[in-house]
Formats: sequence, structure tokens, C-alpha cells
Amino acid sequence: MEYETVIGLEIYVALPTRSKLFCGCSTAGGAEPNTNCCPVCLGLPGALPRLNRRAVEFAVMAALALGGTVQQECRFDRKTCFSPRLPKGYRIVQCDHPLALGGSLELDFPDGSRRIKLERVCLEEEAGRLVRGGDGASVLVDYNRAGIPLLKIVTKPELRSGREACLFLEKLHAVLLEAGIAAVKPEQGVLRCDAGISLRPAGSQETGTRTEVRNLHSFCAVEETLNAEAKRQAEILRQGGRLVMAACHWDGKRKVTVPLPAGEDSSGCRYFPEPDLLPLRLERFFIEAMRRRLTV
Ligand SMILES: [Zn+2]
Repeated sequence: MEYETVIGLEIYVALPTRSKLFCGCSTAGGAEPNTNCCPVCLGLPGALPRLNRRAVEFAVMAALALGGTVQQECRFDRKTCFSPRLPKGYRIVQCDHPLALGGSLELDFPDGSRRIKLERVCLEEEAGRLVRGGDGASVLVDYNRAGIPLLKIVTKPELRSGREACLFLEKLHAVLLEAGIAAVKPEQGVLRCDAGISLRPAGSQETGTRTEVRNLHSFCAVEETLNAEAKRQAEILRQGGRLVMAACHWDGKRKVTVPLPAGEDSSGCRYFPEPDLLPLRLERFFIEAMRRRLTV
């Protein structure tokens, strides 16, 4: 049987602000570990977040550049997970009330041009980073990255191959670059993505069992990984096997997807409204001012 690949992407882009999303700590890279931290981004008792206006401006500009509809009111939520990368025990994200809905990108694929639609654009904070210790056995945490503003762009599952996903990311990067939002070198970790991938019989509309491949850092890795994962799924289905819904990462050396260890697959994550931040109301004149800034 012939299968059709169905791919949706969640792309994370670090916004080029000088300070973090909810505190005044620097976002500059290259600092000594755990030196760009404060009670707010470490979630110490009594510390309260305060939203960075520049991050909102960049996020609105990005959403407009992608043709999205900026919502006049959006809200923040806590995504609680047990992970050493989260000093607060949660990340502040946007769940049911994102910054913008819709939008799309027109792409020239080898078999003709197609418009890939976006689901939503959210403003979120980054988690900390785990670093392997020099002895190879220990793991260290660096919270300099925790709290850096991220734009999360979610596509509809309309991409059909690793190549298409790669072309989409290249176009997205070009659009954000032109809008002055993305950094020039996406492989420096300022643009990364998670990909949901499933197969279905060619021509059908049903949804197959999905695998989520996390933390893809380069456009080439996206293409290679998704093509390999589609092949793996097709082999299992052709042999009459059953796929298991799983989160995994790409082992670049062995060229295979590997399931994430239990507890790192976000199945244990819970959301609830962030009580320390008011809903964010964006006046029409502010949104229009951001639109004008894009065209200057
Ligand atoms: Zn801080």
C-alpha cells in the first residue's frame, strides 16, 4: 500500500530582545553558567514576573509578517513539568489564548506551489539547559537560558515530506529575517523545531498514529530525520505491525529516532492559568503601529 506522510511543525524562535521575557536579566550568550539569573527567572518565593514590552512588539511583528490575526486579548499559562531544566517547576507559555491565530506561507515545492497554513503563534519563555559534565557521567544545569523570550509557531499538518518541512523552515526563516526578528544563523539554536509525523493510506483523510520528534536544530536534520521516520513507520505498517504514539529524538550518529526517556516526553505536563500575569490586551493602534514598522 502507498502511504502519504503528514507532518506538522512546532517551531521555536528566540526573539532578539536584550533582556528576558519576565525579568531584566541579560539574554546575551557566552556568559559564565548561572550568572544571568535572578529571583524571577529562578522562581524564588515572592518573585513576580513582569512582561517585556519589546518581546511583545517582536512577537506581534512576526505574527503580522506571517499573515496571522493578532488577538486583542491573549493570556499566559503555566506548563508544569518535572524537569531539572525548569527552575520554577513550570514554564510560562500560551495555551488556549495565543497571541495570534492563523497565517500562512506560500511555498514553491517541486510539484508546484502550495500555501501552508499556520495554526497559531504564541509568546513563551525558554527553559534552562542541561550540560554534560567533563567526566561524562554528571549532568550540570545552566539557567542563563531560562526565561529568554521565544516565539512558538505551530503549523497545520499540511507538509508531506522531510524536504517540504525543510523548505518551509527556510522560507519561515527568510520571512522572519526580513522582518528583523530572527538571527542570521538558525543553527545556533535560535530556531529549532518539534515535528509531529504520521502516515495514512494515500488519498485518505484519516489520521495515523503520530510520532513527535523533538529538538531538531538544523534544516538538514529536519529533512533527514523526517524522511527516516516516515520510512520506519511505513516499514512497520507494511509488515502489519502497529505504531505506538511516542516522543523521540534524533540520533544523528546511528541515523535513527530514539524514544525519549520516561518523564521527558511531556505526557506528565499540566497547564493552568498563570495567576501572576494579567491577560495581555493589545490595542488596535499598537498592532497597526507594529504593522507600519514592518513595512518601513
Ligand atoms: Zn532573571
